[in-house]
Amino acid sequence: MRSKAKIEYDMLPYPKVLVVGGGFAGLEVIQGLAGQPYKVMLLDRQNHHCFQPLLYQVATASLGADSIAHPFRRTIGPMSNVAYRMAEVQRVDPKKKVVATNIGDFEYDILVLALGSTTNFFGNRSMELHAMQLKSISQALDIRSDFLQDFEAAMAQQVEEDRRRCLNFVIVGAGPTGVELAGSLAEIKRTVVKREYREMDSNMMRIVLIDSNDRVLKNFSEKASANAQRYLEDLGVEVRLGDRVVGGDDDRIELNDGSTLETNTVIWAAGVKGVTVPGLEADLNERASRYDVDRTNALKHHPDVFVLGDCALMTDDADWPRGHPQVATVAIQQGQLLVRNLIARSKGRPAEAFSYKDKGSMAVIGRRKAVVDIGRYSFGGTFAWLLWMFVHVIQLVSFRNRMMVLFNWAWKYISWKNTIRLIIRPYVRRNTVVSRPFVAHE
Ligand SMILES: Cc1cc2nc3c(=O)[nH]c(=O)nc-3n(C[C@H](O)[C@H](O)[C@H](O)COP(=O)(O)OP(=O)(O)OC[C@H]3O[C@@H](n4cnc5c(N)ncnc54)[C@H](O)[C@@H]3O)c2cc1C
Repeated sequence: MRSKAKIEYDMLPYPKVLVVGGGFAGLEVIQGLAGQPYKVMLLDRQNHHCFQPLLYQVATASLGADSIAHPFRRTIGPMSNVAYRMAEVQRVDPKKKVVATNIGDFEYDILVLALGSTTNFFGNRSMELHAMQLKSISQALDIRSDFLQDFEAAMAQQVEEDRRRCLNFVIVGAGPTGVELAGSLAEIKRTVVKREYREMDSNMMRIVLIDSNDRVLKNFSEKASANAQRYLEDLGVEVRLGDRVVGGDDDRIELNDGSTLETNTVIWAAGVKGVTVPGLEADLNERASRYDVDRTNALKHHPDVFVLGDCALMTDDADWPRGHPQVATVAIQQGQLLVRNLIARSKGRPAEAFSYKDKGSMAVIGRRKAVVDIGRYSFGGTFAWLLWMFVHVIQLVSFRNRMMVLFNWAWKYISWKNTIRLIIRPYVRRNTVVSRPFVAHE
């Protein structure tokens, strides 16, 4: 028997808006269209929105996964004109106006693609096979399990070389994600490892941050880059600039100068590329792996398909001729504009063009160590750290998540500990962690 709410939703006499992806852009669209004369269907392969800027804190055991995720069903519960299906989109047929998914086909009048981005290995096949990534909660939990398993494995090693390999952590890419991960691991070394792995010399733990650019945070101001590098080095992170990882396996990486570094853990944070689906090749900019869109985010060949956020490339904005950065603020602002434009369309009014309001960039390296660039101003230290926390907390989706994050941060500040150090679902590598025979202790 069909429920009253389902019958009411099915009977809605409005144009069908199919939103694929409930990240920053997609969520903005469904929230803005709630109560508007549109029949909205959200499709996402996950059942929750993920607040990616705090993923690294899940990966380094500062926050639990449920602090930064929010189930779509809870979001759409009160929205009578919005429905959700957990589905992976496989193809778009813009002629028939149908989207094919793993659970069946969905028709649309207006399609909104907000698919986000995925890790870009720039053709480095061995890193694609062996390095870890940080784009989703399950990957963050893999990293968390992995470094905790490495600490335990190090304790069990009889040979110093093996122990060192377990304690060498390599992060490739010194953008915000790489810098934040490196800083957070360095704090774990100074607090948790020193105090709780007492039989181990904590100085054996190395965190190596590698980037082929000549400075960390290359999209920030030079002052912010210099401050961030100083903070990292103060925390004991080895920053290697101008170096490129060209290969490797589960035991080591190889650099462009021919040298190698023994390590069990490589985290690749060196780049992203837009997620694309088959069927819209006419608008695909293959080099950028993003869809070419006009100033209203519509595809040039299919004006009833809108692409937002990380997978959209808008080059018509004179201030951003190479497209906007793949950051949350762009995705949010594009989602908000599309809502305004769809409401205007329902009232027979013209659409507005997108204009990005850059609110600045920030990255946190550790306790009272952050860098912020806002317009002409660049600053670091405690005030930047407090501002970073404030901005991230207010952007979280629910009140509960905000409270949980604040509580965890306050607890960590007082206790000096990353408390959520649980190996719940052990991370299984492709090869073995220990290459030498294990010698049991008495
Ligand atoms: C570790 C990390 C840290 C970051 N830190 C910052 C930061 O500090 N500040 C900042 O501004 N930005 C940051 N970003 C970037 C920011 O998160 C992205 O720019 C933003 O999420 C893009 O929003 P979006 O809506 O385009 O895509 P997303 O938020 O990535 O959402 C895409 C959605 O599409 C779904 N999806 C994808 N493909 C399919 C498919 N085939 N079928 C069904 N569903 C699909 C996904 O499950 C996901 O829910 C960070 C990103 C990462 C990974």
